[in-house]
Amino acid sequence: MKKVNLILLMFAALMLLSNMNVSKLKDNSVNDYPVYTGNDLGITYSPTKTFFKLWAPTAENVRLKIYTEGKDGEPIKMDNFKKDVQGTWIYILVGDWKNKFYTYQVQIGDKWNDETADIYAKAVGVNGLRAMVVDLKETNPTDWEKDKKPTLKSYSDIIIWEAHVRDFSINPNSGMKNKGKFLAFTEKGTKNTKGEKTGIDHLVDLGITHVHLLPAFDYLYLRVDETNPNTDKYNWGYDPQNFNVPEGSYSTNPYDGRVRINEFKQMVKSLHNNGIRVIMDVVYNHTADAGKSNFNLLVPDYYYRHSADGKLSNASGCGNETASEKPMMRKFMVESLVFWAKEYHIDGFRFDLMAIHDIETMNLIRSELDKVDKSIFLYGEGWTAGDSPLPSDQRASKENASKLNRIAVFSDEMRDGIRGSWSDAKAAGFMCGKEGLEESIKFGIVGGTFHPQIQYDKVNYTKKSYANEPTQLIDYVSCHDNPCLWDKINATCASISFAEKEKIQKLANAIVLTSQGVSFLHAGEEMIRTKHGVDNSYESPDSINWLNWDRKSMYNDVYNYYKSMISLRKGHPAFHMPTQVMISKNLKFFEMPKPLMVGYQISNHANGDKWKNIIVFFNSNAEQQEVAIPDGEWKIVANGEVINEKGLSQAGFESVQKGKTNVPGRSMLILVDKASVK
Ligand code: CA
Repeated sequence: MKKVNLILLMFAALMLLSNMNVSKLKDNSVNDYPVYTGNDLGITYSPTKTFFKLWAPTAENVRLKIYTEGKDGEPIKMDNFKKDVQGTWIYILVGDWKNKFYTYQVQIGDKWNDETADIYAKAVGVNGLRAMVVDLKETNPTDWEKDKKPTLKSYSDIIIWEAHVRDFSINPNSGMKNKGKFLAFTEKGTKNTKGEKTGIDHLVDLGITHVHLLPAFDYLYLRVDETNPNTDKYNWGYDPQNFNVPEGSYSTNPYDGRVRINEFKQMVKSLHNNGIRVIMDVVYNHTADAGKSNFNLLVPDYYYRHSADGKLSNASGCGNETASEKPMMRKFMVESLVFWAKEYHIDGFRFDLMAIHDIETMNLIRSELDKVDKSIFLYGEGWTAGDSPLPSDQRASKENASKLNRIAVFSDEMRDGIRGSWSDAKAAGFMCGKEGLEESIKFGIVGGTFHPQIQYDKVNYTKKSYANEPTQLIDYVSCHDNPCLWDKINATCASISFAEKEKIQKLANAIVLTSQGVSFLHAGEEMIRTKHGVDNSYESPDSINWLNWDRKSMYNDVYNYYKSMISLRKGHPAFHMPTQVMISKNLKFFEMPKPLMVGYQISNHANGDKWKNIIVFFNSNAEQQEVAIPDGEWKIVANGEVINEKGLSQAGFESVQKGKTNVPGRSMLILVDKASVK
């Protein structure tokens, strides 16, 4: 009997094992791979030798091939690596091999994988298929060592402008010569056809503090062919190929790997010289194509997660997701980010679908980047695009933001509160008359921190505060994803007049730019950008994606309003308090007489503001609404059309308000106690 039981038990155990997800087996087996602890993966160049090192613990053999060109031709040299410690392979190439190209080829079992540029490649040839030996010092622009980052006292001072390198300059009316290139960001004195500032001068005039570039690292050549970039083939770039190399189609010569590096650095230096910091959009969460990715050609399966059936899991929605919790993936991410921060002087990183990454990795990234520069700003999308084998309590999601150290998340609570649901282009939000979203807007106003007056059960999506501090929340109403603001307005309040829609275009970002979280603007909103109703323009042609600089002249009132809002925010620290404690002490919401209204008062010269008391109202009703205001004398400093810190004296508005005031329809109204307005 006993024996039978034992057999049954063994049988049951076997069944259990065979039922266990293959993924666990696949992902667990790699836990036995040796971990390399050194910091010299990739190449180390000197004029007398080039030292190659890669990590490939499952390889039987590794071969190095050297070429004179980045594409085509036969290798001029070929040799095998020597196995070294902790799963690594090394090769020393004696002599000066500067500016030659190379690939690795790894043998797994008895099969040779395709050639690959190393994952640690810092320079590549055209289309990123071969790596290049470069002396990085030679890629520095003049006075690169004197490059000075603009001052940043607090993350709460940040105002981000999110742009795509090509969109920025490719329109014939941009006035820029280097159309679609990094170098467009170095051009001063550029104008649209009406003679108004474009390019970097526009950014300086607008007053934003950070430019966030959509992926500008090397993305897949099948998306944009670097040998022929001026076709209708366009891409946002969320398809990484070489993580540590700038994109070639944005350089004036993608064949010579040094050129894109040099031109990227010139861009950074120019932005810095103009008082603007630079943020890179990074996409370590997936690769364009797992099968032939550099990761998989070197160490098959290791860098990815797998689901229960043993297949690649897909939290990215792109067919694969990387595994930040595995030591060598984690190491790769950290070293890549530190490289960009040190070599390219990058000031911030935006993590695509950040919840695919684990909290431990993100906090390690924070601490390693702190060693380079504590003012580097980190933020990301606190969600995934599909389920992940990574347990939800380990994800760097917005729900777990409080466990992240000085890393911010995008808030879709206020975003969709203002504009309407992302998943339905026709769903209206507060801005187009949908009631019941007021608490979601308050959520963004306090930067996602805890505030005793917010009814969290009425907040969109996450029914709780999740940011420890307001600097952990990105407040925004639109970005590259989904319809841009103007298109969303047109989709959700189609029947109203153009003038009324313009008011909404102002109101939506008036909420953002007075809110306590970090401000984020989609490039071109200040000139009523449209993508002509295309809501996912990731591969739409230039004519959909480009910034049409002449719109700045067509909608000059909108431009001036945005510029004034930014100036108001920068001049008044009360609108960007750095701590939850300060906000809950100084910011009190009013009871509103009607839906589609939000109002609050900031008191006590908050955060050192010269204004003692500030009242802010948003009214999304079409008609003006009368509201009670606290005792005392108040001056209007902003309405839906004008912002003047000395006080407005517009027809229809008494210069001094007492007891009550009228908030115009589809407008912001800001009042300041009379004694504070000088
Ligand atoms: Ca590319």
